[in-house]
Amino acid sequence: MIVGVQPLAGFDKLLHYQVPESLRTHLQAGSLVRVPILNRSHLGLVTEVDAVPDVPVAKLKAVSAVLHNFPALTPDLLELARWMHTYYAARMESVLETMIPAAVRGDAKLKSEKYLSLAGPVAADVLAALRKKAPQQARLVDFLAQQFHPVKKSLVLSRLGSTAAVTNALLKRGLVREETRHVERVAYPDNWTGGEIVTGLPPKLMDEQATVVKSVGDSLVKKKFAVHLLHGVTGSGKTEVYLRAVEQVLAAGGSAIYLVPEVALTPQTVARLRGRFQSAGHQTVVWHSHLSEGERLDGWTALATGQARVVVGARSAVFAPVRDLRLIVVDEEHEPAYKQDETPRYHGRDVAVYRAKLANAVCLLGSATPSLESFANVQAGKYRLDLLLKRVDDKKLPDIHIVDMRVEVMRTRGMVTLSRLLVDHMHQRFARKEQIILFINRRGYSSSMICRKCGHVEECPHCSVALTYHRADETLKCHLCGFQRGAPAVCPSCAAPDIRWRGLGTQRVEEAVRRVLPRARLERMDTDTMSKKHRFRQILGDFRAGKIDVLIGTQMIGKGLDFPNVTLVGLVDADLSMHVPDFRANERTFQLIVQVAGRAGRGDRAGEVVVQTFTPKADAVQYAKRVDFNGFAEAELAVRKKFNYPPYRHLVHHLFRGPNPEKIRFFAEHWVKQVEKSLGAAVEIRGPVPSPIEKSKDEYRFQVWYFCARATKVVPELVKLQATVNWPDDVSQVLDVDPMSLM
Ligand code: ADP
Ligand code: ZN
Repeated sequence: MIVGVQPLAGFDKLLHYQVPESLRTHLQAGSLVRVPILNRSHLGLVTEVDAVPDVPVAKLKAVSAVLHNFPALTPDLLELARWMHTYYAARMESVLETMIPAAVRGDAKLKSEKYLSLAGPVAADVLAALRKKAPQQARLVDFLAQQFHPVKKSLVLSRLGSTAAVTNALLKRGLVREETRHVERVAYPDNWTGGEIVTGLPPKLMDEQATVVKSVGDSLVKKKFAVHLLHGVTGSGKTEVYLRAVEQVLAAGGSAIYLVPEVALTPQTVARLRGRFQSAGHQTVVWHSHLSEGERLDGWTALATGQARVVVGARSAVFAPVRDLRLIVVDEEHEPAYKQDETPRYHGRDVAVYRAKLANAVCLLGSATPSLESFANVQAGKYRLDLLLKRVDDKKLPDIHIVDMRVEVMRTRGMVTLSRLLVDHMHQRFARKEQIILFINRRGYSSSMICRKCGHVEECPHCSVALTYHRADETLKCHLCGFQRGAPAVCPSCAAPDIRWRGLGTQRVEEAVRRVLPRARLERMDTDTMSKKHRFRQILGDFRAGKIDVLIGTQMIGKGLDFPNVTLVGLVDADLSMHVPDFRANERTFQLIVQVAGRAGRGDRAGEVVVQTFTPKADAVQYAKRVDFNGFAEAELAVRKKFNYPPYRHLVHHLFRGPNPEKIRFFAEHWVKQVEKSLGAAVEIRGPVPSPIEKSKDEYRFQVWYFCARATKVVPELVKLQATVNWPDDVSQVLDVDPMSLM
């Protein structure tokens, strides 16, 4: 037997090995193995069985060990790995390391426990003899005879005050059986539900929900690849639809993967899943970045062995080694967080769709603000559209008020943090003991300092961005590289004492709220205050319990939260997402307004939303005000079509970085000429031009964009071409296929 192995040793090359007889039982495609390379032992993944080597068989070395007795990658995952390698121009090794958790690749040991049970019925005379001669053994037999399941040995011993000698004697006589089981380490403490009480009883479906559940169910029954896009307004009960789909899959013996943009932000989803399926005897594996190595290995093993058939997690859970995959749910499918911003730069949603295709499974994408990519796929007839147009129990969608901040500024002749309308509403809500959430997607106090006299804006010495003022510790900070210095009292350029602070951050909003509602209990949530791991859950728990009146935060609190007592939501600066050099700026703004508005009025009382903007007439703002997704999508897709932007073509972003800007420009220009020559009409090139953030962490940045009809054709050509160029060491580059960030 000869196998092809992709080593995890720092290079991409398939190597061939012989497999000794003794290792053949558990070795198959997708197995993790140890192999010798240049007299050192390395980890590798078997990608080919019965391979045909390019050297004489006698010269081949042998696989030295097989790591687990089940494959680390199932056949569909192996295929998926190859696709990611090509599509995202990522090294195979980095793809495999992303797909197989370090804990599985490493030597972390499974935690196991011994269990005891009776080997069979014990004859009356045997028991009588035991009672006389060995009363301790008799007690243990009596105890086990009353149990329906094997019992943990440690528990039995402590309960009966028994010893290992007693069990050993019984084991020897063949009366008792001992088995070793792997135990799941519990990934979260039981109170990790953000305070939500979850009953296992499913609610009766609303009519619209029932229609969608049936539509998805019909696809599941067919056991064929299908993608459903569930477009449901905020609070329409999408989660319940997902749960029913998962339930159907479990009942049919299959497995399901449930993706959320960031699992630490969705304790309530985990609680709902566990609440629903635990009682039916199904274990839900939770997959997220705070797991210990041991927890990770246990969860992964439970899935790989079929012991668990549901996993909920952030993007990397799409690689869960489940058996008989029937369904992948992608909640909030429009979220840019699904895109990984380091290599391999894959998009969790797109990988989910592709994996579903390989597994002949159903992919269920859901959102209140679908991505235009997914929506265009519906229009092209590739995805099926399911709709939830109403909130559960016919609750009203909140009223959205747009405040023209130009008018506010004129009235007060100065900087305004909270408009009059917003302040009025805050007073009302506070008086009625209802809760308020304010969003401002920038941390710190203000975004920049500007000198009124000479116009100087203080920038980071290492990056081409303005420094953000943090009042809490009187510093200026760079949000890109972390540089910080004390806040100056006079202009660092002309020494005038005329410093003005421009732009809003969470700290400034907090200060303004304290002035408006001095007696309110308020909390600020941004990465500055969330440095401690459990702080997040604690604040959300307190907020749910009504111990906090006003919650101020960045977008990190805007995702999928369901707080019934929130009746007012303020979006303090809607313009932050609008005026950025990104063709998705409109889409982001629309999504932001609709999503944050969706946090209001989810309980019995109607909600209201105040959106502050300097461009109230902008399309994104106006469509969002009416929660008119179709109108927005139609208008925005027309623009994308006109310029032939995604989703009508693929975009590949090529970033060149290095300390010497002239050198980078030179190489980038030279490179572009070569691409033009060899790819010709297959690709439209823009650049090289300096990136929107020209300098970051002391490196200069240039970018090239490639537009193409098919990334699968163009990307491999670029990679091939890259290999022919002699790149200098101080010019590094990154290819990003279907990028989510263009900075
Ligand atoms: P979405 O994800 O669409 O914003 P959720 O799934 O969070 O909405 O549902 C909103 C609320 O409605 C939740 O509290 C949920 O428990 C509840 N809910 C969902 N479906 C039903 C139903 N059929 N009957 C009663 N309550 C429901
Ligand atoms: Zn910096």
